[in-house]
Amino acid sequence: MNKRNSLHSELPVIIITTSNQNKRVGGSHFSVILPMPEIKVTPLGAGQDVGRSCILVTIGGKNIMLDCGMHMGYNDERRFPDFEYCTEGNLTEYLDCVIISHFHLDHCGALPYMTEMVGYSGPIYMTQPTKALCPVLLEDMRKVAVEKKGEANFFTASMIRDCMKKVITVALHETCQVDKDLEIKAYYAGHVLGAAMFHIKVGSQSLVYTGDYNMTPDRHLGAAWIDKCRPDLLISESTYATTIRDSKRCRERDFLKKVHDCVDRGGKVLIPVFALGRVQELCILLDTYWDRMNLKVPIYFTLGLAETANKYYRMFITWTNQKIRRTFVHRNMFDFKHIKPFDKAYMDNPGPMVVFATPGMLHAGLSLLIFKKWAPNSNNMVIMPGYCVQGTVGHKILNGAKKVEFENRQSVEVNLAVEYMSFSAHADAKGIMQLIRHCEPKNVMLVHGENAKMEFLKQKIMQEFNINCYKPGNGETALIPVASDLMVEVSLSLLKQTISSTSSSTGVTPQAPTTPALPSLAPTNSEELDSKKRMVLHGVLIMKNNKVRIVSVNEAWGELGVTPHQLRFTERVEIEEVGPIPALTSMLHSLLSQKLGASQVQAVNEYQLSVADTVCINIQDIDHTKTVFISWTHQDEALGSKVLNIIKSNYKKS
Ligand SMILES: [Zn+2]
Repeated sequence: MNKRNSLHSELPVIIITTSNQNKRVGGSHFSVILPMPEIKVTPLGAGQDVGRSCILVTIGGKNIMLDCGMHMGYNDERRFPDFEYCTEGNLTEYLDCVIISHFHLDHCGALPYMTEMVGYSGPIYMTQPTKALCPVLLEDMRKVAVEKKGEANFFTASMIRDCMKKVITVALHETCQVDKDLEIKAYYAGHVLGAAMFHIKVGSQSLVYTGDYNMTPDRHLGAAWIDKCRPDLLISESTYATTIRDSKRCRERDFLKKVHDCVDRGGKVLIPVFALGRVQELCILLDTYWDRMNLKVPIYFTLGLAETANKYYRMFITWTNQKIRRTFVHRNMFDFKHIKPFDKAYMDNPGPMVVFATPGMLHAGLSLLIFKKWAPNSNNMVIMPGYCVQGTVGHKILNGAKKVEFENRQSVEVNLAVEYMSFSAHADAKGIMQLIRHCEPKNVMLVHGENAKMEFLKQKIMQEFNINCYKPGNGETALIPVASDLMVEVSLSLLKQTISSTSSSTGVTPQAPTTPALPSLAPTNSEELDSKKRMVLHGVLIMKNNKVRIVSVNEAWGELGVTPHQLRFTERVEIEEVGPIPALTSMLHSLLSQKLGASQVQAVNEYQLSVADTVCINIQDIDHTKTVFISWTHQDEALGSKVLNIIKSNYKKS
């Protein structure tokens, strides 16, 4: 609720907050606790699944789409997110913005479809390298889908170009104002060139979306990093939710040994890779090893792939790690000594070789072509360096398929060795816990992972951090309650009244503590009101004309046109005393004068007394028993009960 603009300028301001932090400016700020609205999250993809990331978020009244990926395992409409789901058609009207975390197709693959075919024309945010690389991967995929598989109703090359024109780029650590209330900030995520985590803020509510990230640096990229921003919600990927990967060096040695053993026995090694993912990492590793071991077996690298990679790494050298940046000064890290461009004809060459080819999940293209050729020979090997989504050939062979069928009734016997090396740069369980510990979110949500593994990690997170952890499925909405600041005016006269009534002693009871409602927290001197001290303010909260104000009870009566009802307490005390009533009245008068001060007690008539003009004492004879009625309003509770106690303790009926 942003009502800051409507505040009356002469009035002090109270910030109502649900957090423990007591915000103040000057001396007139107080914190009040109110329940507040929630953050709403609905995954359209990546909910309890790794297929295609697309997450709808509503925060502070803003609707944001996080990633717009496609599912590589499907050829039908299931590959794109169901945009109709909660938008009822008009995406531009519904969404305040779209944020793309990185260039992998399972995070951006549906973007041209959404902008050019569904018709979203609002803002799209991503980093500069992502903007440069997205169209490269999209065009690769489009070619495979349209030109090789002959698919119709797919976006065209010019649609990809038009889509990218709508993109607004964000620099790392730069706060970007989407509109006057919504701001986003990108942080380095590692993973692949240009990958970013996003901090999204509306008013006092905030969330962090990690996209894919890794918490350990590798040979070409640094580790993810984010401010200690304490968001209301951290939405984290959880691809490797239960894996604590063995040390990097171990994995690398393992990889090199497997490749070396295979080529030693004359086998061919296929390494399917993403055009701009781990491939640089693996090339650096293999090239150095070949050099050291003086190996002559050829290593090939799809020409287009190498060129693409080199071009973009040079262009975005500041996004790579320190070591590569330094090396680039005197040597190009991507001009490899042992790795040569590949030609399709080499596929049938006799003897050992190592080939890096795209795509990474063996679902189409050159890598699949080579696979079909080499799979029947048990001497060969395929090394899958990353995760493969369901429906892809990569996924099938990783699950032990001995025969793979294709659309044209073609089938291939899988006799070659299938190895899986987790080189894909995702945070493992340890990394995810590390990020949570660092950024201190109030809630965590896991996406982009397998349900059973997520459940395990969820329990661990809830136990270790004592916070809530969510993992909604696709199409399910999670509501995350959050705190929010609310600006409230407080009436100046109420503040003055509170200060003076707490700093000076009240009424007729100078020796007593101040009224119970205003305890000793109050300052002792109104002149030196201590701004660091908390004070309790008693007033009436009024919500009127889109404003929230705290005023005194009297002001509230006046403003709301309410006639106050008075609540009066009456106590009766029976007294065994002979003699006429006026004599008792006179005795009570002198007793009370002695205890409370003569000026406070007035005789009204022979049967009535009044104390400080508020407490009434009435003496009557009821059935030959003298009965004293003491009555006071609830505001005078302190004085009234004091008078009652004085009379009771002096005239106790035996
Ligand atoms: Zn990714």
